[in-house]
Amino acid sequence: MAGEPQADCLFCKIVTGDVPATIVRETDTTVAFRDINPQAPTHVLVIPRAHYADAAALAAAAPELAADVLREAGAVAADEKLEAHGYRVVFNTGSGAGQTVFHAHAHVLGGRGLQWPPG
Ligand code: IMP
Repeated sequence: MAGEPQADCLFCKIVTGDVPATIVRETDTTVAFRDINPQAPTHVLVIPRAHYADAAALAAAAPELAADVLREAGAVAADEKLEAHGYRVVFNTGSGAGQTVFHAHAHVLGGRGLQWPPG
């Protein structure tokens, strides 16, 4: 059921603490932690505690929770002092776009110049 924890989901296990992560921020509804394979000097993932497969499913089923994720992405950027030079918030959606973990997550990337268009 939408929003329910999934036994085989890596990020649900990070929410419960069954998989360790370097957590940088937490709220009642979200967790933010450092990406294990960073693509920039700052690379943090912001996830809803509840399980939705991707950003579209999250926004459709729980728009206030999607807003929480976006707000926390901005808070991470502020904490990491990314705002002066800019940063990127990315939701890879679907395997063709590079999504590998099917629990909605925002990548917050910054601390270096970022090219456009992305690869
Ligand atoms: P996606 O490719 O957009 O789905 O992003 C998934 C991200 O999760 C990738 O950037 C991975 O490096 C990251 N990742 C995978 N496993 C872990 C982990 O155990 N801790 C933190 N990040 C992870």
